[in-house]
Parts: sequence; C-alpha cells; structure tokens
Amino acid sequence: MIVGERKPFAEITELIKDSKKVLILGCGTCVSVCMAGGMKEVSILASQLRMDSGIQDKGMEFGEDTIQRQCDREYIEPIIELAKSHDVVVSMACGAGVQLLSDMLVPTPVLPAVNTSFIGICEEEGTWLERCRGCGNCLLGETGGICPVARCAKNLFNGPCGGSVNGICEVSPNTPCAWQLVYDRLKALDKLETLEEIQPIRDWSPSSNGIPRGVFREDMAGIGKESESASE
Ligand code: SF4
Ligand code: SF4
Repeated sequence: MIVGERKPFAEITELIKDSKKVLILGCGTCVSVCMAGGMKEVSILASQLRMDSGIQDKGMEFGEDTIQRQCDREYIEPIIELAKSHDVVVSMACGAGVQLLSDMLVPTPVLPAVNTSFIGICEEEGTWLERCRGCGNCLLGETGGICPVARCAKNLFNGPCGGSVNGICEVSPNTPCAWQLVYDRLKALDKLETLEEIQPIRDWSPSSNGIPRGVFREDMAGIGKESESASE
C-alpha cells in the first residue's frame, strides 16, 4: 500500500488560511489503512480545524466526506458538485489522489493534508516500513523476496557491501542488512547458489524512461465502454 503521514496541523492551517468554506476529503483505501487520511482522520482533522477557527474567530466552515479511492475517476465523479460548493478541498489522499482530484475539480483548488511516504507494509501496529520503490524491473525472484532497491542503503545488486556487522547495516544501526536477509532467505529456500550469479549492471530505464511513467494495457482498453454499450 501507499503509506503516508498527515501534515503538521500548522502547515494545514497555513495552506487554507485564505478560505472560508473548506471540504476535508478522505480516501478509503491505502491512507485509510495506514491511518493517515481515512474517515476517522478526516473527522479528527475537521474537529481540530473547527476548534481552531472558533478559538481564533476565523469564521470558517468545514465539510467532511470520504470516498473509496481518490486515484480513480469513478469515485470522484459523484462528489464533484459537493466539492465545487466549497472554496477549497483539503485532500487526505496520497499525492496521486490529490492530483487526480485537482484535475477533476478545476477551478476549485485542492490542497494536500498528507505527506506521501512510500510503498510499504504494516509491520506491526503503528509501524509501517518501506518495501518497494516501483523500479519497474522487479528482481525479487533472484533475491528471495527481499528488495535491495528499497532495503539496502546503497542499493547494491551484488551485496553485501562488506560493512554489515552481526546482520546490521553499517549505514543505520537500527536496520537489518538487506543482503544478510537475502542470504538467510535463500538459505532457507535452499537456493544459495543464486548468489553466485552476478547481477549485471542495472538497466534503470524502466524507472526513468518517460516521466511520468505509465502502464498501458491494450487488452483492457475500452472494456468499460463496451460493457456500458452492451447494457444499453
Ligand atoms: S525490485 Fe523494484 S519492483 Fe521489485 S520490490 Fe524492489 S523496487 Fe519494487
Ligand atoms: S550493510 Fe547491507 S544493507 Fe547496509 S549498505 Fe551494506 S549491503 Fe546494503
């Protein structure tokens, strides 16, 4: 999932300081799971902003709503009129959600209330860890399912670097050495011979060619329109 963190309250109030009628809009998917921008966080932020407005006599009004996903047009369409009845929309989605919302709500401004952090996992309650940088050329099949792009501080593809001590990365004393993890995993899988294959110089073009990147599926193009016309 995409992991994010809510921006500091002072930053949010600064962003909306020229507005009177503000819609706080949450996203019910990734940021909801990582407790940065779902329905509950919308409610908390709206309460804080109302209190702040009351105490400082700002005379602001705050609406609240949460949609299933802000990165998907079909979920945004039903709230366009509601959003446009406000001076500004404060999005609690990741950066992708903020941008699609912004595209679809022109001329209503959309402002971010969440800092998007990374693609990661929930390790335990209250702890999320990065696991993927979307490099576009996944090599987890060669590394026993441990990602050196996201988890090795030097992004080594033929590790370890020689600096790890007792399985800990030399760059960060709180982080396991990714290549120690790769070794342990391949050993457990009885695939240690994989480490003897030297990984060639990395082709980074899938992650850098064409900014922004896209995934285009010809087999899926127009599927939505076909089913619409079939049901007419
Ligand atoms: S190798 Fe690339 S795609 Fe695979 S997990 Fe790592 S960053 Fe993500
Ligand atoms: S100690 Fe391990 S994780 Fe840290 S930089 Fe070296 S190989 Fe990468």
